[in-house]
Amino acid sequence: MRRLLCVVLLVALTASAPAAQPAAWLLRAARVFDGVSVVPHTDWVVLVRGERIEAAGADIRPPADAEVIELPGMTLMPGLIEGHSHLFLHPYNETSWDEQVLHEPLALRTARATVAARATLLAGFTTVRDLGTEGAGFADVGLKQAIEQGIVPGPRMLVATRALVATGAYGPKGFEPGVAVPQGAEEADGPGLVSAVRRQIGSGADIVKLYADYRWRPGEPSRPTFSEAEMRAAVEAAHSAGRLVAAHAHTAEGMRRATLAGVDTIEHGDEGTTEVFHLMQQHGVVYCPTLAATEAIARYRGWNGTDPPPAMVLQSRHAFALARAAHVILCVGGDVGVFPHGENARELEAMAAAGMPAAQVLVAATSGNARSFHLDDRLGRIAAGMLADLVAVEGDPLSDIGAVRRVRFVMKGGQVYLRPGPATR
Ligand SMILES: [Zn+2]
Repeated sequence: MRRLLCVVLLVALTASAPAAQPAAWLLRAARVFDGVSVVPHTDWVVLVRGERIEAAGADIRPPADAEVIELPGMTLMPGLIEGHSHLFLHPYNETSWDEQVLHEPLALRTARATVAARATLLAGFTTVRDLGTEGAGFADVGLKQAIEQGIVPGPRMLVATRALVATGAYGPKGFEPGVAVPQGAEEADGPGLVSAVRRQIGSGADIVKLYADYRWRPGEPSRPTFSEAEMRAAVEAAHSAGRLVAAHAHTAEGMRRATLAGVDTIEHGDEGTTEVFHLMQQHGVVYCPTLAATEAIARYRGWNGTDPPPAMVLQSRHAFALARAAHVILCVGGDVGVFPHGENARELEAMAAAGMPAAQVLVAATSGNARSFHLDDRLGRIAAGMLADLVAVEGDPLSDIGAVRRVRFVMKGGQVYLRPGPATR
């Protein structure tokens, strides 16, 4: 059957006679945002050969073997990097998190994740840091392979696999005590936590995700879970294996313990105080505020997005302001999956609406995230030698962040996934 399919596919490809990929591409846009400078280059062109950028700048003549792509009125920029996604979740107003974890078959979740991956790529996000499958096991490792092998289109993925929670701390909850209920992450504690970190890494985790606090019972506020010593041991195991550590933390105490334990990024941080943000700044811990997820959940609870915002939205914006004032390094990651994949731009818009200049948001979403995730030797900038992950949007997102939604061109690793005109593939 498989052989037959291959033959059919070959015939189909031959019949449609697709244009061969040119040896090189020359991209000419109205302006180029290089991922670092907040002043766009209006006289640059970008030459791509194979999977990499061969040259970027003024005075580059198109080689004879290059196909020129004109991007008039557009801004060419590095592929955006999503700092906090869950490709295996879909919006909670469609299906609650509990229902997704407990009742959706793994194959259904994986099929849906392939669609989410495509939407993410076509929205201009060419890399994602996917922070846990939420009950879908190690399916992110397989999805990443499918994308790398060109079976389905999608972003480059850094995957966290199952993520790690303290025993009893996570969900779904609210069932007959003593009945084992499938959980949205792997439970581990003490020395077992170190073993679990190593098992997840051995099974494909590029990044280790710990839950430093959570709601121990439904309706409770978040409280710390792991001790500082437990997290320190987990961080040592992860770092020793060359993996960074992300910590979910809402509470100031969870953030404090995670920071002192040596984690690399802290997610959410709504209850962060000036003191804890200063501590993060001193330790070089990156903050990923996930403003868009908070706003999405507030909308699911009835907020119309314009009235005076509810307390949870005000709290997340306040934490963001405190972090900025403390000069904490900011990650751009919306916790997308809580809201629709492909709507990743919401986090950039939320950060800009909360007072961060658009150009700074764009720098953070490209070279900033690349540095925070240790990808800056190959991603996040437009420069010779970097991987050719390039996106063009209509207008100038450096002055109007909303322009990032008007994606007209997407290239990943030198392969074109979206381009203006009829020749879209
Ligand atoms: Zn998340």
